[in-house]
Amino acid sequence: MDVERERTFSPGGGPATIKDSERAITSFSDLLESRGYRATFFVVPDAARDLATVLTDLAHRGHEIGLHFHANSWNGNYTLDRVLPIGAQPAGVQREWLSAAKKLFVDALGFPPRCFRGGYFSANPSLYEALMDLEINCGSTTLPGRHSKRLHTFWKHAPPAAHRIERAGPKTDGKNQFIEVPVTSKQNWLGFLAKDGDVRLERLTSIDQLFDAATYSLARQRKMDAPVKHLCFLTHNTYDYGDGNSPMKCKRLILETLLDRLPEMADRIGFTPCPGTVPGIANALEKCNNIKSACE
Ligand SMILES: [Zn+2]
Repeated sequence: MDVERERTFSPGGGPATIKDSERAITSFSDLLESRGYRATFFVVPDAARDLATVLTDLAHRGHEIGLHFHANSWNGNYTLDRVLPIGAQPAGVQREWLSAAKKLFVDALGFPPRCFRGGYFSANPSLYEALMDLEINCGSTTLPGRHSKRLHTFWKHAPPAAHRIERAGPKTDGKNQFIEVPVTSKQNWLGFLAKDGDVRLERLTSIDQLFDAATYSLARQRKMDAPVKHLCFLTHNTYDYGDGNSPMKCKRLILETLLDRLPEMADRIGFTPCPGTVPGIANALEKCNNIKSACE
């Protein structure tokens, strides 16, 4: 789940109030926990400050709290007319913003983020270098097929499987790789998102649309002989996953159906789901070292 600031401070969208944000987060995590899963929350630093108690409690319960970053909602940037996404910013600005964002996150929560997702899935090589220097060595920064100059997101033909991104510049004493865990999507033959291929939970018209993308993604990962095969579904802190007794749209039914029918859907194509967070999947890939995953 991407956790944004309130709508007033987040031009790309966000919950109306901090209370709504809390409700979205806790109803989502409660539903996942009831089925034995843990979520990965990508949280913009200002929201980490506003939701510190809820997020530290979730971290204690095994959920992962990572860093999310929107250039146009960072600090006072929401007042500016046009702020380019993080992947389009000069390397020095990326480094300065991400380092200040990490500090705000750590000051609020008391632990550093281990994983990252850029707003709009915007990224470029210097962004990964800055993340590695900040000891953030994994994330979910790609939506395979999403390709937009305006959003500075270029994922035409991007692979659906977890993979390593090596440091482009000179190697350092620290870690020189970032493990990427892409969001599940469906691409057309040109490598772009297929019609209805962006299967974020709030956009779905049916569960079949989601399972179609999941089946497609796993088949491609199997064909690529990916050591770890995964599914990663996206949503935002602007939806109610509880009883629907709130001003937000309720998306509980679609998530419940997903969780209840996923084992059967996976079994049909020869997989057994193992719950995992983004760093959990990254660790599995690191351990695999090109040996086939025990998860298949
Ligand atoms: Zn976002």
